[in-house]
Amino acid sequence: YENELTYHTHQQNGTEAEFHEAYEAAVDSVRADLGATHPLRIDGEAVETGDSFGVQSPGDFDLEIGEFAAGEAEEVEAAVDAASAAQPDWEAMEPEERTEFFTDAADLLRERKYEFAAALSLENGKNRTEAMADVDEAIDFLDFYSREFERTDGYRFDTGEPTPGQHTRNILRPYGVFGVIAPFNFPVAITMGMTAGALITGNTVVLKPASATPLVAHMYVDLLEDAGIPDGVINLVTGGGSDVGNPLVEHEDVAGVAFTGSRAVGLGIQETFSELGKRGPVIAELGGKNPVIVTDEADLDDAVEGVMKGAFSFSGQKCSATSRVYVDESLIDEFTDRLVAETEELTIGEPTAEDTFVSPLIDDSALEHYLEIAEKAREDGEVLTGGAEVEDDALPEGRYVEPTVVADIPHEHELATEEHFVPFLTVHPISDLEEGIEKSNDSEYGLCAGIFSEDESEVEQWFDEIESGMCYANRSQSATTGALVQAQPFGGWKFSGTTGKFAGGYWYLQQFMREQTQTRVE
Ligand code: NAD
Repeated sequence: YENELTYHTHQQNGTEAEFHEAYEAAVDSVRADLGATHPLRIDGEAVETGDSFGVQSPGDFDLEIGEFAAGEAEEVEAAVDAASAAQPDWEAMEPEERTEFFTDAADLLRERKYEFAAALSLENGKNRTEAMADVDEAIDFLDFYSREFERTDGYRFDTGEPTPGQHTRNILRPYGVFGVIAPFNFPVAITMGMTAGALITGNTVVLKPASATPLVAHMYVDLLEDAGIPDGVINLVTGGGSDVGNPLVEHEDVAGVAFTGSRAVGLGIQETFSELGKRGPVIAELGGKNPVIVTDEADLDDAVEGVMKGAFSFSGQKCSATSRVYVDESLIDEFTDRLVAETEELTIGEPTAEDTFVSPLIDDSALEHYLEIAEKAREDGEVLTGGAEVEDDALPEGRYVEPTVVADIPHEHELATEEHFVPFLTVHPISDLEEGIEKSNDSEYGLCAGIFSEDESEVEQWFDEIESGMCYANRSQSATTGALVQAQPFGGWKFSGTTGKFAGGYWYLQQFMREQTQTRVE
């Protein structure tokens, strides 16, 4: 198979001026349509419920994103019934027949990408470039998974005649109905990636998006419907985590779950599967506590820039965010001074503004958590910068907080061991690379890790010894975040990813299928 990396969508966004112009036009048009009421989508029909919830923009509480139907067990039941009824015909299609819906959806998404990026900025607070990267990654998922499924002929292999007169095929087949449960932080790419994985392989889906980001999930279902996907193949049930999530996971006809989100919820889903004796997969992509080592052989310019961007892009609300940095004691003072000075220069602003780097936090519990850990950091360590809400009358009412750098926190302290999912970074001294690796690995997580060292042998040693799915050396663009579909398959070790196969990689789709060997005597 030729490993051609021909299509990454982010390389096709035109000049910067064209990008900003198109994005701004899309923000105006998306804003004009906000505030609508959105029912559930079951079996191709709009379904009203007795209850609903409103979503406001995290960057401007006066901006009503919309009112969304709140589903419960009854609606989950109807959605699973629709998905079960649609599944046999969906599975019976030839690989190219099914993938065509997704390559067509990718084409439509290319046409609508600015609209999606604008909606994303308004709904979940991503700045322009982060929003566009989320959409571009989604396009890449749709294209790559389609091409992979076609390339493998839908994972069907003719094994020939083991004995004369007997003919055998070894194939992968879908499980049936998948529940797809998505997080708020990559609500376009991850939602589309997981859903496309389940659907392309012949399963049908009940999708439950995060409560903070239901609008872009509706836009995704529109996309698939506009690409002609049959009724019942994808069903959308918005609502609360446990109101919708629990009945979906527990439903006897839901064979498997694709989940991306926090460790606690993901492990809970696995436990439910095991308690109920369910045999299908729970494909779980969980959190991270991503370490970076800066050795005495590091280029400090690269290290400061990479750590700052890794920690504070999208306000640290990334599973891959850099959250602890281990710096050789010979340069920790200089590193920290420069990191603090450069962090204080970052622009905190409205998500749609051109120069915004740090965007607002998603919801009230994230804000409360941020303020709580900032207080704890003041008590147990030293806050070098940040630790407070932004006071700026020019900003609309939203959840704007300062990126925070903290020193003098012991390596074992909960601030340095738990995932916080806000812009919060702890800095720790190390005496050598070995100590850095040992402390990096002393974690239940193993998602992303970084190193800054100009010494090739240090980098090689680190690649050999670091316990992490994603390992990045000397990346000033961002120490630990950012992966390209197919080129850099994304996933974690340990409690960061409990099933092990990486999103956007060559082994991802097989997880949604079970194996069958068919022998016939002719
Ligand atoms: P979350 O766990 O709070 O929510 C994820 C989804 O689970 C949401 O749709 C939520 O409504 C749903 N949910 C909540 N309770 C549920 C229940 N009892 N049963 C079923 N579903 C339930 O996560 P989040 O705050 O949306 O996202 C942030 C988390 O996601 C972080 O921990 C981050 O590290 C992780 N994440 C991991 C990856 C990865 O690839 N490893 C990528 C992105 C995000």
